[in-house]
Amino acid sequence: MPKLVTTIADLREALAALKAAGKPRIGMVPTMGALHQGHLSLVQQARGRADAVVVSIFVNPTQFAPHEDFDAYPRTLDADLEKLGPQADIVFAPAVREMYPDGHATSLSVAGPSAGLETDFRPHFFSGVATVVAKLLIAALPDIAMFGEKDYQQLLVVKRLAHDLALPVEIVGVPTLREADGLALSSRNAYLSADERKIAGELNVILKRAIARARGEDLRAAEAEAIEALWAAGFSHVDYVAIRDAESLDHITRLERPARILAAAKIGKTRLIDNMAV
Ligand code: AMP
Repeated sequence: MPKLVTTIADLREALAALKAAGKPRIGMVPTMGALHQGHLSLVQQARGRADAVVVSIFVNPTQFAPHEDFDAYPRTLDADLEKLGPQADIVFAPAVREMYPDGHATSLSVAGPSAGLETDFRPHFFSGVATVVAKLLIAALPDIAMFGEKDYQQLLVVKRLAHDLALPVEIVGVPTLREADGLALSSRNAYLSADERKIAGELNVILKRAIARARGEDLRAAEAEAIEALWAAGFSHVDYVAIRDAESLDHITRLERPARILAAAKIGKTRLIDNMAV
């Protein structure tokens, strides 16, 4: 089992002990817990590239809007520790007070890759993510930190912030792990009923079809057809389907450089996101 620490002081002490024990290179995997195989693949990748791995588990209140699922978000620390087993050296699971002490008044404002897409529907999301990720990276000062391509816009925002703040950490993107029917693994999949789960499985299929269409056609038509297909498959709301430049997330009209298709849609109260290389 990993060593569980809940304060930044104890985290730093545990990391110093690892380094003193001949494990100088630290890999970090920030998560909100309710761990699944997708998270574990990040941990595995970190193990392959570092001497020791610290996993943080923190449901970050500042990235949830008041109407979102902060209270309902699954919290399964004991099961998470069990799943990690010997793969993680340290789990850092702070209380909200530890990350946001009384009077906390500092947050990051991000632009660039955070513009549009998720921000159109969750305006405070990336500021919350950027603030907590910066705080976690500064608390642990890892050599590398792993982030999933599952949250593709977030990965670009984190790469940008690490570069802009000159944090001495390499940000590594890890491919999305999927179920047998292609549904991207997500802690929020636990909210889906059996019927909703079937509908959820269509998202990746519709994105793959849109990619095939985009190669021959006008990109806007491919996006519009995918949106129609999501409604027809039983999604209750489609926030966006967008084909963008894969590096900047800028709008594009032609497939000249690497592109990415990104989507967000709801089934009932559950909001799913997914993305793929075009
Ligand atoms: P979360 O706990 O949802 O904040 O996710 C923690 C990290 O795991 C983020 O970097 C996510 O992008 C990544 N992640 C979540 N789901 C997957 C998945 N299916 N495949 C790969 N990485 C994932």
